[in-house]
Amino acid sequence: MNRQETLQMIKDNPDISVLIIGAGVNGIGTFRDLAMQGIDVLMVDKGDFSAGASAGSSHMLHGGIRYLENAEFRLVREALHERNRMLQNAPHYAKPLKTTIPIFKWFSGMLNAPLKFLDILDRPGERGAIVIKLGLTMYDWFVRKHRSMPTHDFKLKDAALKEYPQMNPNITCVATYYDAWMPYPERICLEMILDAEAINPDCHAVNYMSAVDGDNNSIMLRDEVTGEFYTVKPQVVINAGGPWIDFVNERMGQNEQRFIGGTKGSHLILDHPELLEATNGSEIFFENDDGRIVLIFPFVGKVMVGTTDIHIDNPDDAVCTEEEVDYILGMIDKVFPSIEVNRSHVVFRFSGVRPLPYSDASTTGQISRDHSIKSIPATGDLQYPIHSLVGGKWTTFRAFAEHTTDVTLKDLKRPRKTSTQNVSIGGGRGYPQSEQAINNWLQNLQHKTELPLERLRELFDRYGTRAEVVAEYISQGNDQPLEHHSVYSQREIEFLVTDEKLVHLDDLVLRRSLIAMLGFLNAELLSELADVTANALGWSDALKQTEIERTIQILHKNHQVELNPTPISK
Ligand SMILES: Cc1cc2nc3c(=O)[nH]c(=O)nc-3n(C[C@H](O)[C@H](O)[C@H](O)COP(=O)(O)OP(=O)(O)OC[C@H]3O[C@@H](n4cnc5c(N)ncnc54)[C@H](O)[C@@H]3O)c2cc1C
Repeated sequence: MNRQETLQMIKDNPDISVLIIGAGVNGIGTFRDLAMQGIDVLMVDKGDFSAGASAGSSHMLHGGIRYLENAEFRLVREALHERNRMLQNAPHYAKPLKTTIPIFKWFSGMLNAPLKFLDILDRPGERGAIVIKLGLTMYDWFVRKHRSMPTHDFKLKDAALKEYPQMNPNITCVATYYDAWMPYPERICLEMILDAEAINPDCHAVNYMSAVDGDNNSIMLRDEVTGEFYTVKPQVVINAGGPWIDFVNERMGQNEQRFIGGTKGSHLILDHPELLEATNGSEIFFENDDGRIVLIFPFVGKVMVGTTDIHIDNPDDAVCTEEEVDYILGMIDKVFPSIEVNRSHVVFRFSGVRPLPYSDASTTGQISRDHSIKSIPATGDLQYPIHSLVGGKWTTFRAFAEHTTDVTLKDLKRPRKTSTQNVSIGGGRGYPQSEQAINNWLQNLQHKTELPLERLRELFDRYGTRAEVVAEYISQGNDQPLEHHSVYSQREIEFLVTDEKLVHLDDLVLRRSLIAMLGFLNAELLSELADVTANALGWSDALKQTEIERTIQILHKNHQVELNPTPISK
């Protein structure tokens, strides 16, 4: 079903079992789980899928060693198991990541946890080698029965400086352990949506569709493309609005309780080969002098650096400010003091708002990263319960979705049929497990499509086994590399545009691909992408120009990427 057909269906059948408001990773995870239980679900998002906090994260799949200090053992254990599941279920987009902590002292921070427990310490303090050793031992222990990556290791100063010659010589030692990262969180989200819709034809996800109003038995949705309104009558509402949860509840006339106290976090993408080399393939994870966690890590040939943690009331206002850029660039100096990094290296900035539970903690680092469901029951005149999904990590989305699905199934008096624990995601399905198996897989695909092996390898690296459908599409017509970014071809872009629920041009450059994030976008490339998109979707010249201008504005406002508009080419 295309978007238009789905909208018509909503008009014709307003009665649905479940409405999910918000298509970030938590809404999407729940959508997929409910789809697998045979429930009919409509999921809407006011913007593109996963364009909120789920696109603004640090791209880590991690247990969160820092949370041990806040005694969040349940969360860390769960997150480590979910991290391992993602490595297994989405091997194309979840990658092991060697992580190195530069350590400057031996004993500091030993009293942090007990003092926090006694409520005497309310801000993070520096952690020395002993505390980090304790944390990493626990980290390893939590997954001892399902180990998929090496255990932690310490190196004294001399050995550490051999491995990281540019590192600050004032270190006493480094600790190394393994977590995981995701180059394409937005594509994981999209693939889960496509999987869910393929499994259950009664499940539909619509982007650019806002929940704007609600009464006791219906919710009004507004199509942000046409301005048209739709009314649906759900039996259960799941408010997966992330940092917007309180705004969504307010729209539905539920404004008695405040659930969210969001904090903004910003990241920079740097084009800096020397810094990239200095990381030696490792995430460098440390704390700044103010106790904030800092990460510097190799990101698809660039370097990602973050992050900040600033209270914010309206998530729509979240952009990375000049002060944050100064702060983030300044942090690098603590670990790599001899490397010059300045604004000229920044190719992209982005911000997200953590949907943290509302709290009166004096420092944001103290607020729990665990997830919970806050339910407003269907009592009195209210005909449907509203379950708000508060907090959580990207890493733990599947567990959170499972919990939410169980609560929803109980409302609907329906049984759980199956678990998502071992279900592969999109291009992680049938993923070849060794280099030899990958080569065989590529050779088979070459027989089918007659595309060059190097090209197929490129597609495999970008889409996992979903490369098969991409390659088949490419091979069915005349194709050529893009003139202004030859790692993509015209038909590959056409595939993304027509098969991946694209509504606006910025969906393509920001979420279906990493083109903007990696700093490859310029005015000529944007114009070329707009041509391909317009041809594929039948846009008029006027609409194409409007889309180019919209993309330029979003890149300017949200990512401080400046493109000069070029005149329309046709
Ligand atoms: C800076 C930062 C760094 C992070 N780093 C990590 C990390 O490294 N690892 C990790 O595991 N986690 C990390 N997280 C946490 C993780 O990203 C979030 O917990 C998770 O993405 C939240 O997902 P969500 O679906 O709840 O919210 P979101 O992704 O924000 O989704 C909510 C959606 O609701 C939509 N919406 C809002 N109002 C309406 C409406 N009226 N109608 C329809 N739709 C609406 C929004 O458009 C949005 O898409 C980080 C978060 C941030 C901000």
